[in-house]
Amino acid sequence: MKETNQILAAAEKEHRKILLETEAKTICAEYGIPVTKFSLAKNEDEAVRFAEKIGFPIVLKIVSPDILHKSNVGGVAVGLKDASEVEEAYERIQKNVKKCVPKAKIVGMLVQEMAPASTEVIVGATKDPQFGPALMFGLGGIFVEVLKDVTFRIAPITEDEACEMISEVKAYPLLKGYRNTPPADINAIVRILLNTSKLVMEHQEIKELDLNPILVYEKGAKTVDARILLE
Ligand code: ADP
Ligand code: MG
Repeated sequence: MKETNQILAAAEKEHRKILLETEAKTICAEYGIPVTKFSLAKNEDEAVRFAEKIGFPIVLKIVSPDILHKSNVGGVAVGLKDASEVEEAYERIQKNVKKCVPKAKIVGMLVQEMAPASTEVIVGATKDPQFGPALMFGLGGIFVEVLKDVTFRIAPITEDEACEMISEVKAYPLLKGYRNTPPADINAIVRILLNTSKLVMEHQEIKELDLNPILVYEKGAKTVDARILLE
């Protein structure tokens, strides 16, 4: 995988342990994990130009090797509807970040497609010192954070194991559809789990991977945030 190898080699050369969201998403895309369309803007004019190209509404996010949790520092603006909202958010994010993390190196601003709201799931991977890479699955928000409703498997996983991981969580019925919510594309989640398994098996230098959240639709799914930490 050409781009993945280039990104990982560059990070190693710089002794950098955190990949930027742009880098993590480029790797995901190369491994067949669907991600939101994105462009990296270096200034406000570029941000507006990219936003117009991708199409409104748009999401803007800070890109910095020094910031792991972007919304904690006011580094994310969602639902921007036109050029003036993009300009305004660009300045606001820069101001927030300078205030919260004055020394942060700012690479630019990520302009990305706004994924429509839907059921959120999380796919993660961590490296166990004894068993090697392990995969995690759960539903987003309170299910993972409060109820710890997650499943784990040692990688590599088979398709059957990916299906088991999904059906094992207590929140599984929510994926099968309820009241006005249509069933989620479970097969799309299976593919993401299998591709994540392949990625962490082929790149053992990945210490942690976090696709959080992934929005799942009736057809398809989209990763809106991807984090990769290296050993
Ligand atoms: P953080 O680094 O804080 O985890 P995220 O990229 O996950 O930053 O953004 C915070 C939240 O904003 C996400 O959990 C999601 O709800 C929303 N969000 C981010 N990017 C998008 C997007 N492209 N489309 C829709 N919602 C998004
Ligand atoms: Mg996130």
